[in-house]
This record gives sequence, C-alpha cells and structure tokens, in this order.
Amino acid sequence: MSIIVQKFGGTSVADSSKILAAARRAIRAQMDGHQVVVVVSAMGKNTDALVALAREISEEPPAREMDMLLSTGEQVSVALMAMAISALGHEAVSLTGAQIGIMTDSTHTKARIQSISSDRMREALDAGKIVIAAGFQGVDQSGNITTLGRGGSDTTAVALAAVLQAKACEIYTDVDGVYTTDPRLVPEARRVERISYDEMLELSSAGAGVMHNRAIEFAKRFHVPVHVRSSFSDTPGTMIAAEVESPHPAVCGCAKVKEEARMTVLGVPDRPGAALAVFSKIAAKNVAMDMIVQNVAANGCADISFTVFRGDLPATLRAVEEAVAELGAEGVNYDEDVSKVSVVGLGMAEQAGVARRMFRALADRGVNIQMISTSEIKISALVAREGAVEALRTAHETFELHREPIFAADLPKVGAAADGGRNAVEVAARMEGMEEMVIDDIALDAEQARVTVLGLPDVPGLAAQVFERVAEGGINVDMIVQSIEREGRASISFTIPRSDLKEALRVTTELSKELGCPPPTSAPEVAKLSVFGIGMRSHTRVAHRAFQCLARAGINVEMISTSEVRLNVVVDAARGEKALAALEEEFADVRL
Ligand code: ADP
Ligand code: ASP
Ligand code: MG
Repeated sequence: MSIIVQKFGGTSVADSSKILAAARRAIRAQMDGHQVVVVVSAMGKNTDALVALAREISEEPPAREMDMLLSTGEQVSVALMAMAISALGHEAVSLTGAQIGIMTDSTHTKARIQSISSDRMREALDAGKIVIAAGFQGVDQSGNITTLGRGGSDTTAVALAAVLQAKACEIYTDVDGVYTTDPRLVPEARRVERISYDEMLELSSAGAGVMHNRAIEFAKRFHVPVHVRSSFSDTPGTMIAAEVESPHPAVCGCAKVKEEARMTVLGVPDRPGAALAVFSKIAAKNVAMDMIVQNVAANGCADISFTVFRGDLPATLRAVEEAVAELGAEGVNYDEDVSKVSVVGLGMAEQAGVARRMFRALADRGVNIQMISTSEIKISALVAREGAVEALRTAHETFELHREPIFAADLPKVGAAADGGRNAVEVAARMEGMEEMVIDDIALDAEQARVTVLGLPDVPGLAAQVFERVAEGGINVDMIVQSIEREGRASISFTIPRSDLKEALRVTTELSKELGCPPPTSAPEVAKLSVFGIGMRSHTRVAHRAFQCLARAGINVEMISTSEVRLNVVVDAARGEKALAALEEEFADVRL
C-alpha cells in the first residue's frame, strides 16, 4: 500500500478547529487508500514563545536545555492531533522523535539526522493507524533530546517520506505554494507550479522560509517529490521535483535572509593555510559561513570577509578572535545591520548579463551593494538591512517575476508522475548518516583569467558600471566576488574566458582611470574548480576541508564562492590539475 506523508506547519494547527481540519485531511487520504503519516509542528507561534521565555531567564541558554524546552511544542500538537483523529472515529498513535527512532548527532539546536528506524511506524501503519510524528526533534546516542533547527519539521517530514519510500510528501502551510518571492514582502509575487530541487535549495537557503533547506536536501537525495500547498484550500500548490528539460527561466525567484551578519578578518598573512586557520575555528563551532570573499592580497596580507546567520555571531566572533591571535592577524570587524538578497535560476548559467541587470537595477534605486558573490545559479548581494526589502522588490520587478515565463506550458503540470530514480534505502546504506554531505562530481575549468578592479569608492552603481563596461566589450563574465576594503573602498574580482583578458583589462583600466582608482590587477591564467553535491554550504566542513587539502598541497585559493549545490575555488592555472587531484582525494569518502 502506498504511503503519504502530510506535514502541518504551526499556523495549520494553531487552534483546536484547525487541528480537527488537519485531522480530516489525514483521514481523507487514508480513506483514499493510503497509509498516512502526519508530521506536526508546534501550535501557532508556540516555539517563538518558548524561545522568548528562555531568553527571559538567560541570554545564552545551554543548547541542550533549549532543545529540551523547544521539543515540548511538538509534543503538545502530536497528542492533540491523535486525539482529534480518534474523536473523528479513526485510529491514530502519536510518537515523539525518540519513540520513532530519529537518531541525530549531538549538535543541539541544529542537529543533523543520522538514521531513522521505520519499524515502529510500519507496525502502526499496518495495524491501520494514522501515525502522528513530532516534527523538528530527534535524540542523540546518549538519549538527549535534540532539535533540527528552526523550521525543521519540514525536514522531519521529508526524511520520514524518504525512509518509508512514500509516494509523496505534502507540506501544508499558510500559503498555497512556493512563490517567486515571499508574498508578504512583495504582493506581486506569483505562485510557481513546479520548481526544481536545486532552485528550491538555493531559494530556501537564501531566505525563502516556506521550506527548510535541509528538507530539500533530503528530497533531492532520496528523490522525494514534495508538494507544497495550502491547508486552508484545495488549490493545486507547487511541486518540488527533479529538474525538467530546459529551457529554464534565467531567474525563477528571489529571496532575502532576515538575520545575517558580515564579519571581516583583517590583515591575514597571505600564505596557504592562513584562511584555513580561520575556517577551521569556525567549522569547529558548527557555524555555516556564506558569501566568503578573500581580497586579493595587498602588502602580503589579505582581508577575509564572510557572512553568517546573525544568531551565530557571538560564537563566530569567539572563533575568529582565537584565529586572529594565532595568526597574528590585525583584527576583526563586523556589521549586524546587513541583509543578503539573492536571485536564483537554473537558466542563469546559459544567459549572459543577469548579474549586470541586477546591479544596474539596484544602483538606479540607490541601493548600495556591500558584497557580491555569484555561483552558476545564484547571485547574492549584501546590502544594508534597511534597504533589503526595496532591493528584493527591485529584483522581482527587474526580472518580471510576476509574469508567467513564456515557455511554462512545456513544463509538466502539478501532480505529474513522481521521479523514478535511485533506491533511497540503498543510497542511505552507503552513507554514515542520512544527512551526510554527498559529492557528485568535481570539475576543472583551466581556461579562465581573473581581473580585479581595486579601490572602488563604496557608493551605489559601481558594480553596474564595471559589468556594463565589460559587457560592452562583448565579454561573458563567470564568477564575481566583491568585498569591502579598508577605508570604505571596495574591490571587485571576476573571471572570464582567457581569450578575453586583453579586452577586459582595456575596459577596466579605462574605467579605473575615470574613477580615479588604481589600475586593475589580473591573473592571466587561473583555473576554476567546482565541487558539486548536496549540502555544499550548510555542511560547515566542506569549505574547510577544501581549503585544508589545497593548503596541504601548497595551493593558494584566489577566489571562492559557495552555494547549496556547488563550491567554486579559483587557483593558479598551473596548479589546476594538482588541485583537482587533491580535492578528489579529500572527498573520496563522500563521492556518490
Ligand atoms: P509553517 O508554519 O507552515 O511551516 P512558515 O511560516 O514556516 O509556515 O512558511 C510559510 C511562510 O513562508 C509564508 O507565510 C510566507 O510568508 C513565507 N515565504 C517566504 N518565502 C516564500 C516563498 N518564496 N513562497 C511562499 N512563501 C514564502
Ligand atoms: N516548531 C519549530 C519552529 O517553529 C519547527 C517548525 O515549525 O518547523 O521552528
Ligand atoms: Mg516552516
């Protein structure tokens, strides 16, 4: 008999009548001939209330006790949901994470799932019961209750669907699907019928709170089709599934991260392994870094900037201060009033000028870009927090996301057949933990050159000008990073096909002169190495391990960009093959 997993978020179980409505949905699915597992979140804003309560007691409560506290929210809702089903004349059993056997590591408040036992659930399902599983929680080897991070009930649901080899995982929430951006921030946002795993992964980690990004990692890895839909209506929702044939729109959506902070480590000695010292300290605290930008070194020293989730700022600061002391670096500064705005789309890789259009549009609205990081399917700009919503609206408008892309008719409709694909159990058996990172491929592009425009005044419009000039020269830009330098100056580095270097230098030298900046620098022969996989950004060890193995091989990293599905590093072309071999060896244990 086929299994369906249904997940109800906080607003969908906010009061008794909503719980009864959700219970009816589960019963309907059972009457349709499915075995049903229901995953529930805490009622309404209960988790927020518990967090606030803890903060009244202590500013930094022990993480273990935080998990003990937060897991109670879901325990209330599973019990009530089981009672509701029983009151409606059907059989149900509520189970906590520990009772199911959701084993996690011991990283309290953001634990990762290692394994899930399906025995108890299957037994109950075979006995005709609806299983009500507590979302967001698990248990570690020592029996401590853990939680998976805010929004983690989505991850529980998709992970259960994976181990049970469910036909589908339905996410019931307070919007009727995935929109081109948060409809609360941009009312013109449009619901999309279907979105690929990779695009949803990038969007959710770029701030689209409708799905927990780790849920999408599970979905992609185990080929679980995810159907996001409204718990208050029967509208069709959005299918998140494997990517369909091209064409893809250049941009499918945009998002902003609410709680971001930027940190810069100043005056790091420019030698292989120095950046590594910083990254390993941060990785040891389980903090995921994003938008990592290393300035091309001046006077033998480099500045390394990156962003982290704002809540991780105190832990990151402690880690970085240790590294600064060890390395004899100059110091550290940070800014909490920033926000990251990203645009995402699979078609971006095939269409030139997406970044340039975004930078121009932001400049025309007077939005200053503090940092830039691009990967093949995502462009992220760091802006002042107060301008972030304006930046998001601008991006949405610029790429006309309110309009249906013209070729949408070619895409399969919602409810189209689930993806075939690998046997989930077989894949899981090959991994140490269900949420371990997985690497599909490592690639080398040895035909690139790097240009760095230095000393740009930190005012709106400079990135736009740089890339407009470069585009006028008929040059396609690949990777872009922009970082803040001392005294409010910025530098922009980008890679291009090697044959375009002369022209790129000509146009950027001209622009630098006009702006009164020092002449651009370049590296005529660089290689870009890309590591493809799942969890490339959120697994704190990926960037760290990449740096570690390259440092060991004596290879300096010139540029880096991370996304959920890809880690790019730029190194000297002469070291390209050696870097490839080093990365292959380093990641051999997690290669699919
Ligand atoms: P639940 O409690 O059901 O898990 P969440 O609040 O976590 O619900 O997620 C739903 C909310 O996500 C929506 O109300 C919406 O404001 C927000 N959201 C952010 N980005 C998007 C997006 N791209 N599409 C749809 N909703 C989004
Ligand atoms: N209740 C948890 C939270 O609010 C988990 C979830 O709802 O997904 O973060
Ligand atoms: Mg949620």
